[in-house]
Formats: sequence, C-alpha cells, structure tokens
Amino acid sequence: MKLQFSAADEDFRQEVRAFIQTHLPTDIRRKVELGLRLEHEDYVTWFRILETRGWLTPGWPREHGGPGWNAVQRYIFDEETLLANAPRIIAAGIQMLGPVLIAFGTPEQKAKYLPDIRQSNTWWAQGFSEPGAGSDLAAVRTTAVLEPDGKHFVVNGHKVWTSYAHWCSMMFALVPTDPDATKPQEGISFLLIDMKSPGLTVRPIRMLEGGNDLNECYLDNVRVPVENLVGELHKGWSYGKYLLGHERTGIAGIGSCKQQLARARQLAREQGLGEDPLLQARLAQFEVELMALEFTALRLLGTHQQSRTPGVEASMLKVRGTELRQAIYETLVDIAGPHAVPFSQEAQFLEHLDQAAVDESMVAVAANCLDSRKVTIYGGTSEVQRNLIARATLDAY
Ligand SMILES: Cc1cc2nc3c(=O)[nH]c(=O)nc-3n(C[C@H](O)[C@H](O)[C@H](O)COP(=O)(O)OP(=O)(O)OC[C@H]3O[C@@H](n4cnc5c(N)ncnc54)[C@H](O)[C@@H]3O)c2cc1C
Repeated sequence: MKLQFSAADEDFRQEVRAFIQTHLPTDIRRKVELGLRLEHEDYVTWFRILETRGWLTPGWPREHGGPGWNAVQRYIFDEETLLANAPRIIAAGIQMLGPVLIAFGTPEQKAKYLPDIRQSNTWWAQGFSEPGAGSDLAAVRTTAVLEPDGKHFVVNGHKVWTSYAHWCSMMFALVPTDPDATKPQEGISFLLIDMKSPGLTVRPIRMLEGGNDLNECYLDNVRVPVENLVGELHKGWSYGKYLLGHERTGIAGIGSCKQQLARARQLAREQGLGEDPLLQARLAQFEVELMALEFTALRLLGTHQQSRTPGVEASMLKVRGTELRQAIYETLVDIAGPHAVPFSQEAQFLEHLDQAAVDESMVAVAANCLDSRKVTIYGGTSEVQRNLIARATLDAY
C-alpha cells in the first residue's frame, strides 16, 4: 500500500495553497495565527471567498454546489487551510445540516435552505443536546406536539451547549414527537426551527477561557410549520445519526495539530528554548505520534476513497487527534511559562492587542489551552468513542 500523495494530489495541494495565500485577508490570518478571537464577520468574509471558488462545501455533491472532491482532496484542503492559518469551516449548516437535507429533505426544503447556507446568509444552530441528554442523546425531552389542524408543531423544552446560537437565524433540532414510542429512538423527529419565533430565548454560557460561543436555548410554546419537518415523522433519529457521522469527519484535526506544533517550535525558539533537550524530546514525541496518526488517516482514506459516511475509523482518529491536540496546547503553556499567566479578555481581540501585558505571540496561549478542553467532549466524548471502537472491534470476533 502506498502511503503517499499522488502527483495529482500534490498539484491540488499547490492550487489550494496558492488560493489561500492570495485570498485570505491579512487580519483574519493574523487572528488565527495568534489564537485570537474570530468574529462572525470574519467567518462570513472567508466563507464567501471560498464560495466564489466553489470550495465552501467540500462534503456536498457536485449537483448541490460541492466541488466534487474525493476524500484525499478534502483531507488536503482541510490541512492546507489550517496550516495557512485560515478559519476552519465550522458552520453547522455546511458540515451537518446540508448533507441531511441533501439526503432526506424535500425538493422545497433543498431549494429554500441550501443556497442560503452556501452564501453564508443563514447560520444554523445544532439543537441536539439537553440537560440530561448529551452522550445519551435518545433521552431528549423537548417535545413537539402537532396541533389538531395538522399545520404546526408546538415545541417546548430546553437545549444546551448550542454553539454560536447567537449568530444563527435557524436551528435544526431533535425532538420527541411520539409519547407512545416503545423505544425512545423510535419517536423522535427532526425539525427546522426559526430562531426568531416567539417563545425562543437564547442565553449565553460563559466558557472557561472567557468566550461565549455556547448557549442555552429555551423553547416555550414555539410554533413550527409542519413543512419544517425533515423526512418522516418519528424517524428523526436515523437522520440525526447520519448527521453525527458527518460531524466527526475531520474532527481529528491533524492539520490543527501540525499548526500548533509549528507554533510550539516557533515559540520555543523565541523563548530561547530551541536547544532544550527535554523540550526537544517532547516535541519529537509529538511529531512521531502525529506522523502515526496521519499514516492511519491516509490508510483509512485509501481504503474508503469513495465513502462519504465514516464509520468507527472516525472515532479512532477523533480520540487520538483530540488528545494529541490537548497535549500540544499544554506544552505551549509550559513553553510560555509565566508569560502565559497574565490573562486579559480584551487583549484577545486583534484591535486591542496593544493592551497585552506580554508579547503578542503568548497573549492567547493559556486561553487556547483552556479552550482545547472541549475537543474531547464535543462530537461525542472520548469515553463514548472508545465504547464505539470496542463494540466494533469485539463484535468482529
Ligand atoms: C464546545 C462544545 C460545543 C458543543 N456544541 C453543541 C451544539 O452546537 N449542539 C449540541 O446539540 N450539542 C453541543 N455540544 C454538546 C456535546 O455534544 C455534549 O457535551 C456531549 O455529547 C457530551 O454530553 P454531556 O455534556 O451531556 O455529558 P454526559 O453525556 O453527561 O457525560 C458526562 C461524562 O460521562 C461520560 N459518559 C457518558 N456516557 C458514558 C458511557 N456510556 N460510557 C462511558 N462514559 C460515559 C462522558 O464521557 C463524560 O465524561 C457541545 C459541547 C461542547 C463542549
């Protein structure tokens, strides 16, 4: 088996690299490089640039505006984007909802929603988790009851950890619709909810590093037109599972690991630790683990070139990639040493960088490390991924 990129892949890599170099706005690049906060407009600006090239929706089929890339090209694109300090494509509409609508939506839903996702006019919130329903998602309790005239659902409940809900105008949600279902998974539906609906309230959750990307969403008698049901009534669980497979794709963040490892080497040099043997051994160990991870990813990509829905392999890559990423962030803090301690909320915005008490390369190191705690939780916790891997492996024997 050849674990290397073909000449055509390398040409593609150069094409992506050249495009990013020419088109990524300098201020956005700088923010990503220093680990500073990105605003909604930053993402929208970059996403619209990508869309002009037809590259914003790599996982979508060509007939819906995708670029028609294979899995290796998508991997290269992801890696090059991160190495060039461009924002990741984080929008749930692109990564999660789009593939579900393409597979299960009505022609009207596709026509109404997909173009606006591609143009970054509509941002979508993922309304899955609830207090008491995260890993055990089938335990969701937000209910949707069809009104007697059959025209609207009335939704009541509480969603939590809803990323970027304050930037979103729409939400896709898993909601129980059949109180008589024998198994919880059999009575759940997949609804599209207008975030401006009366009765829907968004409250921010303050995160460890001071940011508020996360929110709680309260739904109090929110009326949702019946045409916002995706697929069949009570069958939403299977659409949700399909979506989660897409969420986990690329979540290993091999490009992010490489990006942060390069940052660690640079910072070590700046801090006069370029020759420190203990630190060098630690960084070398990361290089080895990263290389092993990348070979595993490429081996799997080679095997599943045409497959769009990843299986248990995605869980393996997620566990290793996210744990490695956290370890590299911790090393960054160690390299910065006492310089990682001064923590200024304001200094994490490019326009206030001059207020930083330390060199700009270290302003966000501690915040980024704290923020990285989330990567082993979202998209399914490491413990849950290990369960999936164990089940798949043991079932094979
Ligand atoms: C940054 C961030 C962004 C998020 N964004 C969204 C979003 O936009 N939309 C959304 O719907 N959700 C979102 N989530 C929620 C995320 O999906 C859940 O946090 C995750 O699924 C875990 O669920 P929980 O928080 O309820 O923890 P729990 O499921 O209560 O787990 C608590 C602990 O128990 C462990 N555990 C649970 N079950 C098992 C088991 N069977 N075996 C072994 N250990 C187990 C877990 O690993 C964890 O350590 C986000 C979370 C984070 C951190």
